[in-house]
Amino acid sequence: MSTFLLEIVTPERKVYAQDVNMVIVRGLQGELGIMPGHIPLVTPLQIGPLRIKKGNEETVVAVNGGFVEVRKDKVVVLAESAELSGDIDPERAQAARQRAEQRLTGKGSDVDRKRAELSLQRAINRLEVKKGF
Ligand code: ATP
Repeated sequence: MSTFLLEIVTPERKVYAQDVNMVIVRGLQGELGIMPGHIPLVTPLQIGPLRIKKGNEETVVAVNGGFVEVRKDKVVVLAESAELSGDIDPERAQAARQRAEQRLTGKGSDVDRKRAELSLQRAINRLEVKKGF
């Protein structure tokens, strides 16, 4: 099976760099599956899981926004944050979820609501990736 190099990079670190068979990302218009030879493109990503297929293994990464860039030689995901399942602290994500839910049930300004909604999405994404859904 042919492969391509997938790199997942955040401002803090390189989270992943391996030859893979396929990656499925959550773009703004829905899921996008990328296999070797995909046409070059750059597209924004949602907060959501990123699935990597390599041989018989599937790895899921919790990705927080950013972009995917499909190049001729490799695929690069540049995200504000990204964690492999093993790097996710579920208690921290649960606490972040509760904080966000409390803010959303209070009477904050619009800006606070948007911020809390995004925080809630990040926390739920981390919890789901950790659960291995
Ligand atoms: P918190 O309120 O717990 O900080 P957050 O959603 O605001 O959560 P981010 O700003 O998205 O956190 O991330 C800040 C840094 O912390 C990033 O490096 C991210 O990978 C890491 N991080 C955030 N939450 C977790 C978690 N539950 N487990 C492991 N790393 C995490």
